[in-house]
Amino acid sequence: MFKNEKFNIGIFSILVILQLLGVAAIWTQFQWSFFPIMFSIYLWMGLGTTLYLHRYLTHRGFEMPGWLKFIFALGSAIGLSGDPVTWVGDHRYHHLKSDTEEDIHSPRHGFPYAHMMWLIRKPPSFRERSLRYAADVRKISYCKVWENSMLYVLPHLALAALLFATLGLAGMLWCLYVPMLIVYNLTWAVNSICHMKQFGYRTFETSDESKNNFWVGLGAFGEGYHNNHHAKPRCAAHGLKWWEFDVTRYVIWTLEKLHLAWNVQWPTPVESETEDLTADEAGTMLITSADPNSI
Ligand SMILES: [Zn+2]
Ligand SMILES: [Zn+2]
Repeated sequence: MFKNEKFNIGIFSILVILQLLGVAAIWTQFQWSFFPIMFSIYLWMGLGTTLYLHRYLTHRGFEMPGWLKFIFALGSAIGLSGDPVTWVGDHRYHHLKSDTEEDIHSPRHGFPYAHMMWLIRKPPSFRERSLRYAADVRKISYCKVWENSMLYVLPHLALAALLFATLGLAGMLWCLYVPMLIVYNLTWAVNSICHMKQFGYRTFETSDESKNNFWVGLGAFGEGYHNNHHAKPRCAAHGLKWWEFDVTRYVIWTLEKLHLAWNVQWPTPVESETEDLTADEAGTMLITSADPNSI
């Protein structure tokens, strides 16, 4: 149904150019001195999406101090993940309508559409819907300011300019656009791959097609355990078993130990208890994404 919506050439060009900047890095000289900066920015923008936009802002899986919220929010803006009001509104609606005709990024509309093209053919009515579904987010001053796209891009442009001035073109491409390319495609893969029958296993019989996928989880900070998440949306952990590697969960756990996170919605012991799978079986299942019932 969404495939007939107007093709937004502006958004399409921006998303393609941003990703091409990441690809273009391979024609410049990589230096190992870039690596710590590149990795830090990858963590900052990745956690900005998974920990802040998703587990905190959308689902309120925990609380943290205001200054820390802003640091993570800034990471999401640097990665141009989408302004918080739009992101939260779209995502809450996704939970409501998962894998129905009204779920804008369901693979039932086709893989390219579920992965990226939904952003380009998004109906204007979705904007109105986001404003309603994310009314609480609009009360946060910087989220309100970032509804203006000209202001939203400023943190990204400022960091790009800083990296260009200090590390040159190669430094800017490797430290900013390569992590962005990775974060974009792995977070989009949560929408696309983690809702496809072929790729992953299901722990819970949810009403949607969501799957748990180790490989997406590995790159997308634990968000690949998407079937767990659909079954328990408010839970701050997406990896529920000890072998479901979930970086965002470990960061929230560390913050809690440092008294920088509280009211954390952790899974109950029953949800986290070790199944009758051995470590070898669990490893096989994760890597091949085979259904545990067939092992
Ligand atoms: Zn989903
Ligand atoms: Zn969610």
